[in-house]
Amino acid sequence: MSHFKIALIRGDGIGPEVVNEAVQVMDRIGEKFGHVFAYTDVLLGGCATDAVGKSYPDGTAEICRSCDAVLLGAVGGPKWGSTRPAHERPETALLAIRKDLGLYANLRPAALRPALADASPLRKDISAAGIDLMMVRELTGGVYFGKRDKYQTSDRGMEATDLMAYSEMEIERIGRKAFEFAMLRRKKVTSIDKANVLETSRLWRSVMHRLASEYPEVCYEDMLVDNCAMQLVKNPGQFDVVVTENMFGDILSDEASMITGSIGLLPSASIGDTAPGLYEPIHGSAPDIAGQDKANPIATILSVAMMLRYSFQLMEEAEAIEKAVDEVLALGWHTGDIAGDTDKLVGTREMGRLICSAI
Ligand code: NAD
Repeated sequence: MSHFKIALIRGDGIGPEVVNEAVQVMDRIGEKFGHVFAYTDVLLGGCATDAVGKSYPDGTAEICRSCDAVLLGAVGGPKWGSTRPAHERPETALLAIRKDLGLYANLRPAALRPALADASPLRKDISAAGIDLMMVRELTGGVYFGKRDKYQTSDRGMEATDLMAYSEMEIERIGRKAFEFAMLRRKKVTSIDKANVLETSRLWRSVMHRLASEYPEVCYEDMLVDNCAMQLVKNPGQFDVVVTENMFGDILSDEASMITGSIGLLPSASIGDTAPGLYEPIHGSAPDIAGQDKANPIATILSVAMMLRYSFQLMEEAEAIEKAVDEVLALGWHTGDIAGDTDKLVGTREMGRLICSAI
């Protein structure tokens, strides 16, 4: 019998509701396949600010490092907005934990689930070709972490700068992850940059070309970020693994999510080389529907499937979750965010229960 320790960051808004359903699903998997999942609750986000005055309490990273993986619901909300000092803001805690755990690779699969082909905002002839891509975004470098400055000039008023910096080491390790995922998928990597303008992109491209020569089985291509934004809506079926730097990835991964339908369906993982991976839905804390049993728990449940596959190498178990989700959706059971006129509307708890019983 295998034993896994999981840190649970339930967070704010709908976070606790969706994590609760994901835990039921893990327990069901444990029961069926003979594993034990032990949980440690970790306080982080707005709820931590309320409890201890800091969104990222001391010792958080140590507790997470003592576990095999971390599952996060969502953090944030208007109560802890931008007028608060940085140490009370939930976003500060998210950036800090990713950095402290060395989670430099963010993986976001964007797949159109068969039962929800109609949920895609794309034209039918485009979505019918299928969408099944994996965004690999660099998470701890680039302009989000570069030096910032704001100063008075003599004649132009205030001026501000944000430095975008990348080292070969940072580019190589994220690039290697992309090629390794491609080897497990359809063996294609598209690397996104702005090499016609940015020096960081020209370095990025040269490192990617070196890596491409190490993976001759993988079909490799460069694409400029503006073209990628267009291709994602014109012909998303062309992509398998898409790798890019932090800010381009932030924007493109949201675009890739939207073309597959609801934000409530999409999981993500942030991984490094040694520390526990962090698994979370891509959506936020949805304060508008929090506490109403309306949140779709599927993104968090599919994040658990990613955890089982990538942190614990439990492939059969991960597939059992994904198959159960597809079965329940195909039977027409949908939460409000994806429900059409003919669907059977269910709440967060009932959706979790249906998926558990389909496993
Ligand atoms: P959001 O993702 O929370 O909500 C956007 C819209 O999608 C809302 O209408 C919401 O009701 C809906 N939605 C989101 N998740 C859903 C689900 N599972 N089921 C059904 N509907 C769902 O984005 P936002 O409103 O821009 O942000 C709200 C808060 O969440 C902010 O404080 C933001 O900073 C935070 N946030 C946190 C994370 C994170 O924890 N990783 C990510 C994004 C945003």
